[in-house]
Amino acid sequence: MNVIYPLAVPKGRRLCCEVCEAPAERMCTACTVTYYCGPVHQKADWGSIHAKICQLLIPLRTSMPFFNSEEERQHGLQQLQRRQEHLIEFCYTVAQKYLFEGRHEDAVPAALHSLRFRMNVHGLSSVELVPAYLLLAEASLGLGRIVQAEEYLSQAQWTVLKSTDCSNATHSLLHRNLGLLYIAKKNLEEARYHLANDIYFASCAFGTEDVRTSGGYFHLANIFYSLKKMELADTLYTKVSEIWYTYLSSHYQALLHARTQQTDLLGKQFMNDTGLDEAQEAEAIRILTSILIIQESTSTQAPQKGILILKTLGILYYLMLEFSKVWACFASALGVSRHQHGPGWKEGKETCLGG
Ligand SMILES: [Zn+2]
Ligand SMILES: [Zn+2]
Repeated sequence: MNVIYPLAVPKGRRLCCEVCEAPAERMCTACTVTYYCGPVHQKADWGSIHAKICQLLIPLRTSMPFFNSEEERQHGLQQLQRRQEHLIEFCYTVAQKYLFEGRHEDAVPAALHSLRFRMNVHGLSSVELVPAYLLLAEASLGLGRIVQAEEYLSQAQWTVLKSTDCSNATHSLLHRNLGLLYIAKKNLEEARYHLANDIYFASCAFGTEDVRTSGGYFHLANIFYSLKKMELADTLYTKVSEIWYTYLSSHYQALLHARTQQTDLLGKQFMNDTGLDEAQEAEAIRILTSILIIQESTSTQAPQKGILILKTLGILYYLMLEFSKVWACFASALGVSRHQHGPGWKEGKETCLGG
């Protein structure tokens, strides 16, 4: 049964909807610690994040058990803290992955959870809240809610401003999102300023040739592309593809090496992995495929650039164990190199872009 019986709730305790914080009328029967204003928000939360964390919320939201000693109590508190920290990261990665997949509506409840757990653990004015504000801003932008995106971004900016220990990585993310906001508002001058800052801070944090810096180059390239400054756009797109190719091919080599050693020592099978989290994998696919599409429509003179991207995507899919897409990428690359735009190209490209 889903509906809450008001008499069963302790007096003075107000139950709020998990998604909108309006007074709650229903409860999740699987965990019995999560409430909703109605079926719409319950369904939205379930589809986004609740199905994945429903059971994990029970120990967080039921009162602490009785402890025999101060030591036990401290241990209990530490465990609670660790659980919340785990949920912060987990909800954040899930929301981020939705964003890269273009599922902005689904990203909102997951991002809200990450924000609330951050507030619980770090307090209301901590710089740790900023990444969650940025996710919510990005989701709002994707949904065309520019005013709401601006609100989240000014929260983030304000928090950064007040803080003395904000990392370069966070500065970079803030500027990237401000850049995207100004792109949405068609103020490309301001967008360029913020993306240049994004690249600066990301380079300080990770280096100029890091995959985490490449997002800034990519968005800046998109601006040049829309301003019809093709040469600048092309240079940056090429840089982005090269960064991803270098990262993935050297990761692949390192994995091969580790696997040979592992088999020698233990005779054990080694699992493939990309060294990236799911959100970064989704970002890589989105960035590389959109560069591929842009290059196909503009630079027929430089097939080797398309081949490099197809090879990079091929390695990525291989490491993700998606073998049918690997085949499609390499078949397509072969098609390009044989005929520039021969018959293998189109068919293979569609398969490796699809899904
Ligand atoms: Zn609600
Ligand atoms: Zn539940």
